[in-house]
Formats: sequence, C-alpha cells, structure tokens
Amino acid sequence: MVRAIVGANWGDEGKGKITDMLGAKADVVVRFQGGANAGHTIINEYGRSALHLLPSGVFNPRAVNVIGMGVALDLGKLFRELDAEVLSKGVPMPRLLISDRAHILMPYHIQFDTLEEMRLADKAYGSTKSGIAPFYADKVMKKGIQVCEIFHDDLLLEHLKEIAALKNAQLRDIYRIGERAPRSEAEKALFAPIDPEAMFDYLVSFRERLRPLVGDVSAFLHDCIRQGKEILLEGQLGSLKDTDNGIYPMVTSSSPLAGFACVGAGIPPYAITDIVTVVKAYSSAVGAGAFVSEILDADKAEDLRRRGGDKGEYGATTGRPRRVGWFDAVATRYGCRMQGATEVALTNLDVLGYLDEIPVCEAYELEGRRIQDFPVTPLLEQCKPVLRTLPGWKCDISHIRAYKDLPAEARRYVEYIEEQIGVRVSMVSNGPARESILYR
Ligand code: GDP
Repeated sequence: MVRAIVGANWGDEGKGKITDMLGAKADVVVRFQGGANAGHTIINEYGRSALHLLPSGVFNPRAVNVIGMGVALDLGKLFRELDAEVLSKGVPMPRLLISDRAHILMPYHIQFDTLEEMRLADKAYGSTKSGIAPFYADKVMKKGIQVCEIFHDDLLLEHLKEIAALKNAQLRDIYRIGERAPRSEAEKALFAPIDPEAMFDYLVSFRERLRPLVGDVSAFLHDCIRQGKEILLEGQLGSLKDTDNGIYPMVTSSSPLAGFACVGAGIPPYAITDIVTVVKAYSSAVGAGAFVSEILDADKAEDLRRRGGDKGEYGATTGRPRRVGWFDAVATRYGCRMQGATEVALTNLDVLGYLDEIPVCEAYELEGRRIQDFPVTPLLEQCKPVLRTLPGWKCDISHIRAYKDLPAEARRYVEYIEEQIGVRVSMVSNGPARESILYR
C-alpha cells in the first residue's frame, strides 16, 4: 500500500497533522521533494514540533523515514532539526534513510537566494531564502553535489573548485560583491566569495553522522512494496505551487505533486494506490502572486488569520503573516485534479465557526465571463471571485468526534465542497490535535 498525502492548495493545508495521524501506522514515511522551505506542524504526546526537512514518521519508532533524491537536503538544518525538534524532546533516535543520490543544498544556495531577492527589490518572489531556487537550478544545470560525493574526498574537492570558479564569477559580475563594504556580520557572509576548501570542510564535517543513514532509497522502497509494507509519501506545499502547473513564476522550484514521488523517491507510478489530497476549509497563501479569493478587507482578514490553524495563520518557517481568503472551488478542483486525488481530507473546518455566513468562491469572472477552469497566470491576475454564501454554524465544533454530530450547516459546507471538487471527502479535521478527525 503506497499512500500519498499532498496538498491541493497553496500549502499549509494541514498535511502535517494528517501525515502524523496516518504515519502512526505506516512502516515507511517518505519525503520526495522540496527542502526546509516549508514546515509541518505536528502536535502529539511530545508537544508541538515544527518539522521542515525530517519526514513526519520520526515520532514513530517503528517507521523508517526516507529522504528521497528529489529533496533539497540542507545538512546543517537537517541535523539541527533532528537535535532540537526530536532528540531533545526525549524522542528516541528515529530510523532514517537518506538517498545517496540526493543533492545537497549548500550555504552558497542561501547566499544566492538572498542576493537575488535583494537584486529584485520590489519585484522579489517573496522567497523564504532557504536556497531552494538556486539549489534546483544548479541541479538541472548539472552543478549540484550529491550525498554520495561526501565519501570521495578528491572528487568532492575537485567538484567544489569547479563550482566555486563559476559561482564566484557570478557573485562578482552579477551581484558585485566586491564593490561595497559589508555593513554587518550577516552582510560579510553574504558578500564573501565561495571558498572551496571551506565548503569541503563543511561537507566533511557531516560525514560520520551521515554515514550510517545513507543508502539506496529506490532499492529499499521496491523491497518494501514487494513485502506489502505501508508506505506514506509526504508532500510539501500544494498543487498551485508546482513549477509546471502552478501559478508560475510564484511557484516553488520542485513538484509537490504525488506523481513526482516516482522521480523523487524512485518508486514505480503504478505502486501509488491512494492519493489523500488535503484541502483547507478556507484559503491561505504565503508570498506574492494572484490569489483570487483573498479577503481584501484588512479587519476581516485578520479575524480569520488570528483564528486559523493552531496558532493563527503565520508561516511555520518564517513567522510571516499568511494571506487569507475564502474557500476557492476553482483552484481546489484544479489542485485535486493535478494531484490525481483519490480522496480528500478537509481541514480547519472548526476555524470557520465564528461566521454567521461563510462566503465561498464558486467560479471566477474573467472579462465579463464566468469561468470554472483554473487559468494561466496572466489571466488569473485579472480574475474576480464569484462568491456565494453558505450559512454558518456559529459554534465550536472542535470537541465533536463523529461526522453525524456536526451541526447541519457544517455538514452542508463539507458536502458543498465535495460537490464542487468532485472528489470524496473521506476525513474532516476539526482541530489541530490528532484525535480531532471525523471519518465519513
Ligand atoms: P502543512 O504544511 O500542510 O503541514 O500545514 P501546517 O502543518 O502548517 O498546518 C497548518 C496549521 O494548521 C498548523 O498549525 C496545524 O496545527 C493546524 N491544523 C491542522 N489541521 C487543523 C484543523 O483541522 N483545525 C485547526 N484549527 N488547525 C489545524
């Protein structure tokens, strides 16, 4: 059984909770794309943990946690996260398997990400400056460093020297690092050329900790599939941030689609049997880009932002306030289609309990026409939301443990969403905790 848990929207749908819940029973939990640029919030008996790179199965002593070759692996962050979010909380050392083919996100990727956002100034992408775009660009440009190289000194140093020669020319000629004196310690690092020897020492410093964790992920997963193990593929972000199918260029630099696990973890496409697509009962998005159902009234937006999730809608990685909006049927239907959703987990339903009436975006209006299909970015920028309102339930539903016990208005809201997206809503999440889940 291979089950993917992925997002249909802009990310932050609450995948972490669903993964943690279903991960409690999984034999294997797999990350196949992205890096430390997004976060899962997991709340369990160990408290509240923000995971950015580690798979959510790290709290389950039985599970093997796999980091696939599609992941942007920041080794510094990986081990800091392992120490701070897992081991220091008294969780035993999780079982981890890191692909020997995964590429390493280097400190200079963060440097380039930061410099590029500075160069773009008011046209910046709103990057989390985790180095993700420069990392994937390098990988595709064949300038990346794979985990396996850490175990081959001569090859690694040679490779780093070649990369540094190119990058230092870019730093000098594009970002003009020699031309202005750094004004702080942080700027000193930002405006420094890349020293291949220092990068070599940086990578080798992880070698012994990494050695027992590295292996052939694809061979391992094929074996697990043959043995009928329960495998969970853990997506990051959501469909609308997909490089090829999302709101380009305000997208991420890898694919958050379930199908990408075939590339990013080396499993056969036919092996994925269930694609649980997580949909949020309202919308939230981080960073710039068209967001048709956004709540433009600042007070109304703040009302929702404050109540969202378990601590308000503020980024798990950056703490930035998220933009919030009403449920968007056009974007979500498209998001589910791109994922190939076989079932939907609808989250954050409890958050809407303060509203008398709940607006939902049922269609877009584009040049006076009503459209139902999610358009390309230049057209998306011109779309206006066609809203309708559904009755609210005006009470706290977070204590309810059976779907049938929800107020009729809440059930109607769920059923409305199901009709709009055309995929069965099999689970409704009515609170941040693991037990706040209603099966249908
Ligand atoms: P992910 O990136 O999709 O994993 O999303 P996050 O982990 O950032 O989830 C967003 C927030 O929603 C977190 O603070 C979760 O604890 C919280 N959350 C998840 N499901 C629910 C829910 O049903 N209700 C409420 N109130 N919060 C939820």
